[in-house]
Amino acid sequence: MPDYRSSLKGSDPAIYNALVAEEQRQQDGIELIPSENYTYPEVLELLGSIFTNKYSEGYPGKRYYGGQENTDLIENLARARATQVFRGEHANVQPLSGSAMNQAVYLALLEPGDRILAMDLSHGGHLTHGAPVSHMGRIFDFSRYKTLPNSGAIDYDHVRDMALQHRPKLLLCGYSSYPRDLDYEAFQSIADEVDAYTMADISHYGGLVAGNAMPNPLDFGFDVITTTTHKSLRGPRGGLIVCKQQHAKAIDSSVFPGLQGGPHMNQVAATAFTLHKAAQPEFTEYCDLVLSNAQALARTLKVEGITLVTGGTSNHLLVLDTIDSFGLDGRDTQNLLDEVGITTNKQVIPDDPLPPFRPSGVRIGTPAATSRGMNNDDMERIAKWTVAALRCHSDRSSIASIKREVLDFCRSYPVPGIG
Ligand SMILES: *Cc1c(COP(=O)(O)O)cnc(C)c1O
Repeated sequence: MPDYRSSLKGSDPAIYNALVAEEQRQQDGIELIPSENYTYPEVLELLGSIFTNKYSEGYPGKRYYGGQENTDLIENLARARATQVFRGEHANVQPLSGSAMNQAVYLALLEPGDRILAMDLSHGGHLTHGAPVSHMGRIFDFSRYKTLPNSGAIDYDHVRDMALQHRPKLLLCGYSSYPRDLDYEAFQSIADEVDAYTMADISHYGGLVAGNAMPNPLDFGFDVITTTTHKSLRGPRGGLIVCKQQHAKAIDSSVFPGLQGGPHMNQVAATAFTLHKAAQPEFTEYCDLVLSNAQALARTLKVEGITLVTGGTSNHLLVLDTIDSFGLDGRDTQNLLDEVGITTNKQVIPDDPLPPFRPSGVRIGTPAATSRGMNNDDMERIAKWTVAALRCHSDRSSIASIKREVLDFCRSYPVPGIG
């Protein structure tokens, strides 16, 4: 890898210093934000490569610019690996981010004003699933299903009732903050009943599906899956669409020229590499450990008497009701944990009486910690530090001693790609 640091240090010390400080921050803390991960050193290398120089509007064999022999090769590899890893018929690897990928799918399958039934943001869905503040919420006619008041789980009878009432053209499932697996068979049969397309946004757990640790919606007859490439998949920031062959043309022309211009070929190269890694047996081991680490966290937190939305987890993430558990809102919880070097994010819980910038909970997850090699025993320690820090938050000396223990612990797990 070219040593960009030595030149950056001289030419732009302010940015160089921020980079070094960020490396230190990532090394010195325990990353529990469930949408984050530490990517492979090879991905950093490819993202920083000269593929970034190249314009490749179009698709392999059908580009608007010359000089594509190497870019065609990497994009063809990325597409072939995506269809193989996700057992799909067609893949598009050009979406610049998760949000763009979802927009491209809606605009491929639907007309403006068409109905989409999706999970409510405040119950675990994503902004791009029709939140009123999002542009998609203005362009399409979204209705949003919620989870059950007591259990926090999806009620498939309620989803079916809403589908029969609203007759959506697209039934969308997938989540950013729901600690349970989904019943794709139920979603597909509801969609069949109302003649809707099925789309699963597996952005958060795409890696776990790729690693065969969680069910794959395409195995249940879904039309489309979308996933980010930078969360549990451990790749570069970006989006990936895998669909049935019958939607291939519509999806491709929706991504380009419908929504985007030139793809980021450095990102496409890194996605191709990431999908190669996802097909290896070690990646399945990684995914299994992500899930068992989440179980270990949940187990210890429950022993400590912490309230978890849905009572636990069957995926990589947990939602803690921090008001109920500690009398602290999500913002204060997040800030206190930052002080001891444990990074989380504040999160609304279903039917949250508090506002989104100061909600009743936090969301935590295991993909990043697991990438550093942390195991079930480590999760137990992390859960205990978390609870201790929140219980004794006004005692400065306890906070300082937890912070020292966390720092010590982090030193034995180097961050991939740093140093
Ligand atoms: C993260 C996420 C996205 C958006 O990804 P960005 O890359 O942040 O635009 C979309 N859908 C779901 C469910 C997500 O969790």
